[in-house]
Amino acid sequence: MSYIEVKRNTDSAEASLIAVSKTKPNSSIIELYEKGHRSFGENRVQELVQKQKELPKDIQWHLIGSLQSNKVKHIASFVHLIHSVDSLKLAHVIIKEAEKANRCIDILIQVKIALEVTKQGINAQNAEDFVNNLKDLNSPFIRIRGLMAMASFTSNMEIVRKEFETAKSLFDSIQSSFCENDTVFDTLSMGMSGDYLLALECGSNMVRIGSLIFGSR
Ligand SMILES: *Cc1c(COP(=O)(O)O)cnc(C)c1O
Repeated sequence: MSYIEVKRNTDSAEASLIAVSKTKPNSSIIELYEKGHRSFGENRVQELVQKQKELPKDIQWHLIGSLQSNKVKHIASFVHLIHSVDSLKLAHVIIKEAEKANRCIDILIQVKIALEVTKQGINAQNAEDFVNNLKDLNSPFIRIRGLMAMASFTSNMEIVRKEFETAKSLFDSIQSSFCENDTVFDTLSMGMSGDYLLALECGSNMVRIGSLIFGSR
């Protein structure tokens, strides 16, 4: 029931819905798969690898949590989109492993918009330079598809809105510096169960929803 509702809301905002299935059993994933859903997100490499092995091969797997460089090799052959690139070192390893797997891996740059010290990501002020550095590598093995951001964990929706707006204007500014015929920088991944409607209002076009679809963890 809530899947249908969330799906309707994201569809009407022309956004993609990533069903975050971390800690949930394969049976829960299959239930959505049978409704036609194909995009799932996991935050731990080991769990992702296990599920990918066991579940239908046309599932598009998104790695949404922080990623250690030494684990990239486990997902390089199949991952659909890595949402959490936040260092040049990690980007270099993704390039190396993508080359070994003979494919191009799509990535998002995780930007830090929240006040909390615990949130991962590149500082907003450095994001544009970071993207330019990655572009300068000119690698055929990664495509920078956009940005991922997480808002502060707070019930104060005005704070959350400000943070989402910051991410959206950063996204627009970076997108405008890509050349016109280069349309790959097109994804702004923001919004979770508690704030996805606000994120969509603020211009998100990809939301990552776990508990609202699968129940609390
Ligand atoms: C767990 C997680 C989500 C989904 O969180 P919910 O509040 O359950 O919707 C989204 N993004 C990231 C990065 C996560 O780790």
